[in-house]
Amino acid sequence: MRTLVWFRGKDLRLADHAPLLDAVRHGEVVPIFVVDPYFFAPERAQEMPSRMQFLVDSLGELATSIEACGSQLLFAHGKSVAIVPELARAFAAERVVAHRWSEPFGIERDRRIAKALAEGGSRLELFEGETLATPGQILTGSGTPFSVFTPFSRAFVKAVTIGAPRPAPKTLPPLPAIPAAAKKLLGKAPTLGSIGVTRNELVVAGGEKAARARVTTFLKHAAAKYDEGRNAMGVAGTSRVSQDLKFGTLSARSAWQATRHGLEDHPKAWRTFANELVWREFAYDVLRSRPAVLEHPFKPAWERFPWRKDEVAWRAWVEGKTGYPVVDAAARQLLGEGFVHNRARMIAASFLCKHLLLDFRLGEAHYMKYLTDGDWAANDLGWQWSAGCGVDAQPWFRVFNPVTQGERFDADGAYVRRWVPELANVPSRWIHSPWLAPPLELRALGVNLGRTYPAPIVEHSLARGRFLAAAEGHLRPAGGVQGKS
Ligand SMILES: Cc1cc2nc3c(=O)[nH]c(=O)nc-3n(C[C@H](O)[C@H](O)[C@H](O)COP(=O)(O)OP(=O)(O)OC[C@H]3O[C@@H](n4cnc5c(N)ncnc54)[C@H](O)[C@@H]3O)c2cc1C
Repeated sequence: MRTLVWFRGKDLRLADHAPLLDAVRHGEVVPIFVVDPYFFAPERAQEMPSRMQFLVDSLGELATSIEACGSQLLFAHGKSVAIVPELARAFAAERVVAHRWSEPFGIERDRRIAKALAEGGSRLELFEGETLATPGQILTGSGTPFSVFTPFSRAFVKAVTIGAPRPAPKTLPPLPAIPAAAKKLLGKAPTLGSIGVTRNELVVAGGEKAARARVTTFLKHAAAKYDEGRNAMGVAGTSRVSQDLKFGTLSARSAWQATRHGLEDHPKAWRTFANELVWREFAYDVLRSRPAVLEHPFKPAWERFPWRKDEVAWRAWVEGKTGYPVVDAAARQLLGEGFVHNRARMIAASFLCKHLLLDFRLGEAHYMKYLTDGDWAANDLGWQWSAGCGVDAQPWFRVFNPVTQGERFDADGAYVRRWVPELANVPSRWIHSPWLAPPLELRALGVNLGRTYPAPIVEHSLARGRFLAAAEGHLRPAGGVQGKS
């Protein structure tokens, strides 16, 4: 049997790749990647530069690995809905295999492709593997999806058996001769030049090897103390594999099993880390069962929330000029290296929604633009959690204080000093609230508030009060207020 193996942007690996292994078992294999203008047109690619750099680098390594196995990754240029059925026809392939996507637009794309393939006498077969459990598989006793994480995670542990990841094939069947009709559809591998993206050396390296190296480094240096270290913003205390899980340079199963074995002697750290991987499962489960969350607040009471419009405040948040050092460090880390520490994401997101009273969807879209790990499911869950309108969200009336959060999770100011260098010399006791330092002392340290670094754009307690008043006014009539703690 001849099979097209369609590598999509979320499974860029040879190890633990169920569709590829299945194709190899059944005969001839044609590995393809579709260079769809939806992502690869320069004007689109430039809107998500870090993700595209990671993707292009990962594709380069994948193509080399496939070649080393005796085959070739073909790059088809065009819209996937049209070109995949055309390629299948041109190659006279009996089937196309790929990993299942959970996003509503991916599901719709696959529906259209499956229909077109069926009309041409071929078929689309989708395999699980993006997550550990099939999204939608874990249900409450009454058969509905979970809206709260802890019971979801309990049910997950009971229901899901996570097997060993399958090794990469050592060899692949040689590529069949390329028919003339297929040649017309094929082109070169994308490069940063072809998509108009300038390389950013601070974005993590793509590809399976770099992903494995990150797991090894994590297990060697930080994993044993993950339960304590994961919140320290100035320390490399986490795995940094989120983009690998997103682009599939590491399978979820490989991440789970490698860290489980590596943390056998550190059960507390393992439990905490496993819990984070289950949060990822939850995010995918929510997206699959409630696809509307990509556009609407999960809690209907939050529709038409009185978000403000304030271009000046928005620009200050985006550029890292709010005057709150930890919020600004998060903004600049995002623009600088396409990553933000999880604790900093929570603080920055809360600040945007609550202190500035700006729509969480603005922040969500901005993060999708610049995060290398920008992932529809996890990003939406994180933003709706931070705003207070999502599944298992933090209570809306809990407003993070960016100063105390900074003092607690960046006590020596290492995170702020790295990303807000104009404050590098400020002593730790003022690093998160430079406006409290005596002005003369600040001047001596090279800081002139309002000139070299902004004064706070809002005052914490006033901003908190403004948000609480807006939320109470909006949510109470709709019955959305559950009482304060
Ligand atoms: C506002 C906001 C936006 C976010 N956007 C994204 C996003 O676009 N993509 C993304 O992968 N994560 C997102 N997260 C979750 C989290 O911040 C990142 O997964 C984490 O910081 C990645 O770093 P790491 O790989 O070192 O994580 P680790 O702490 O080492 O965790 C291991 C893995 O668990 C998963 N994970 C950890 N925390 C979460 C979480 N809260 N939700 C879902 N999965 C999680 C990730 O896959 C991560 O790689 C967001 C969180 C917030 C608050």
